[in-house]
Amino acid sequence: MSNATVASSLNLDLKKIEHFIGGKFKAGSGKETFESINPSTGKAHATVALGTADDIDAAVNAARHAFEKGPWPRMSVRERCNVLRKIADLILARREEFAIAESIDSGKPISESFDGDIPRSAFNFQFFADFAPSYVEEAFSTAENERHIAVREPLGVCGLITPWNLPLYLATWKIAPALAMGNTIVLKPAEWTPYTAYLLAQVAVLAGLPDGVLNIVQGFGAGGAGEALTRHPDVRSISFTGETSTGRAIMQAASATMKKLSFELGGKGANIIFADADLNEAIPTAVRAAFRNQGQICLAGSRLFVERKVYEEVVEKIVERVRKIKVGDPLDKETEMGALIAREHMEKVQSYLAIGKKEGHLLCGGERLTALGDGNFLSPAVFTGLEIESRFLQEEIFGPALPILPFDSEEEAIALANSTPYGLSASVWSQDIDRLHRASTQIRAGLIWINTWFARDLRTPFGGQKSSGMGREGGRYSLEFFSEAKTISYKYRM
Ligand code: NAD
Repeated sequence: MSNATVASSLNLDLKKIEHFIGGKFKAGSGKETFESINPSTGKAHATVALGTADDIDAAVNAARHAFEKGPWPRMSVRERCNVLRKIADLILARREEFAIAESIDSGKPISESFDGDIPRSAFNFQFFADFAPSYVEEAFSTAENERHIAVREPLGVCGLITPWNLPLYLATWKIAPALAMGNTIVLKPAEWTPYTAYLLAQVAVLAGLPDGVLNIVQGFGAGGAGEALTRHPDVRSISFTGETSTGRAIMQAASATMKKLSFELGGKGANIIFADADLNEAIPTAVRAAFRNQGQICLAGSRLFVERKVYEEVVEKIVERVRKIKVGDPLDKETEMGALIAREHMEKVQSYLAIGKKEGHLLCGGERLTALGDGNFLSPAVFTGLEIESRFLQEEIFGPALPILPFDSEEEAIALANSTPYGLSASVWSQDIDRLHRASTQIRAGLIWINTWFARDLRTPFGGQKSSGMGREGGRYSLEFFSEAKTISYKYRM
């Protein structure tokens, strides 16, 4: 990007975001729309087609037709993966446009969308294009004249439902493996962030994805397009990322038609710093882990536990850094924290800030930044003095608010980490390999980071324990979710 702010390059007309069904952009059955609000200005920047159960039906029919009659499931995995690679190339060719769209829609800093979300979305396609062709099927021989082969077949029409915090990143994380395995798709993006899914549909057309293979219906969840997708009898699976309470509702809705389910749900990540940790690494990483994307990351280190011997020092250095975080216009390249996704979400975060102020000590931040205009800007907050039982430490706040608690022993630190219903991720900082091993086996979470945070290899299983999820995504775990195992047994005449 050429200059500090990219706003001048924008066309400020209201954009019109439509559904993408059967290879065509469509207004939808009711022709009704809703407004997409820019979180940093509070103003509408797009009108979005409001998906209905009829639109879901049309999209599922298009996907079913493409699956039953179209070329996609019949192409070799290598041919399909060539199309995936083209999609990746086309996203990267329009990287700046995608990044601006993501930041306008979600309020995240352009540096995060340009350097993080958008290249990672392209990489999701590249990764599965490389990985899927090497998936190995099994064969067993019971006798000289008998063979049993275990093959994987596509499921058919896959329903994908995604959240607003990493919109294109998480949509492509599901779309790429689903497509690689030969399925057809209906995606329902989050209502607050419809824009990059719409751009992705444009890219899919240019990449030569056959009509009906990827369908996108915009709109809401409960009572709207999302729920209709979870109830549709021709949808074989739902891969969902979002809140734990929504996961429960989807599980119930999907039970009537016995869909295969994969859930990536909420988190309340523990970040544990022992006294022997490399504090020069641990402290800046703890700040990033708590405040990246305005704290709206399922993997956030949203509870910081520090061994008492270094507690004072760590608290002081964290606060010093947090005070310097530059909050501002998401389209300014220097901005480190942008706007929270929506007014109602900001108010929810503020209700937790009120709890923190009442029950603990606020060391910095925690205020609405009205000087930045009508956007949903909060200054990053650090709290001490809260009890582990507080709602502040038990519930997912999903905003820029970090509580810090001291601990005296390894056992206590592990108990604190395990004290919530969530179990998505945790970080542990120490130089003691035995302690790190004990902690990583005793903390009940799907992802444990040792002396780091957010490091990922896409071949490894990704997902949560307890209320943080069901099933795993990544590498072969995604390919297995988006396919059905079948055993075919042969008897030969010798
Ligand atoms: P959400 O559950 O409110 O919405 C997610 C999606 O589900 C949206 O597209 C929404 O329209 C749809 N939806 C809502 N109710 C539905 C229903 N009854 N039936 C069908 N669809 C429905 O979540 P959100 O607020 O968009 O996202 C934030 C949440 O996502 C946080 O809890 C966060 O931790 C979680 N998250 C988890 C991961 C992970 O990998 N575990 C990653 C990112 C976000």
